[in-house]
Amino acid sequence: MKIALIAHDKKKDEIIELAKKYKEVLAEHELYATGTTGTLIMGETALPIHRMKSGPLGGDQQIGAMLANGELDLIIFLRDPLTAQPHEPDVSALLRLGDVQKIPLATNAASAVIMLEALKNGTFFKH
Ligand code: PGA
Repeated sequence: MKIALIAHDKKKDEIIELAKKYKEVLAEHELYATGTTGTLIMGETALPIHRMKSGPLGGDQQIGAMLANGELDLIIFLRDPLTAQPHEPDVSALLRLGDVQKIPLATNAASAVIMLEALKNGTFFKH
């Protein structure tokens, strides 16, 4: 499966923690990430990741384009709901396209854990 990983700055620690915890299961899939998130996860886990541009520089839109093309199966996007983002329109567009395509999309770590556990247990299925 193709999985996208994205985290706003205040959520980077959380996504790194998740990537470390689920490194073995993530390693079985093709991973994509926005620029900084991808660099940090690769540095901490050595997982191979296709890196897009940084989110505020168009990375969210690149992930959105993949979504629109039906090229992603799961998205973990740890949003920071308490900080204004300069690229909020891009964030909203990505979330909207996820719903258009009916792609599982976790916007916080608790939801991400449920999806990653399902992946690990083999109970994750494509809609
Ligand atoms: P980043 O982008 O991984 O380049 O920080 C994430 C975002 O803010 O959308």
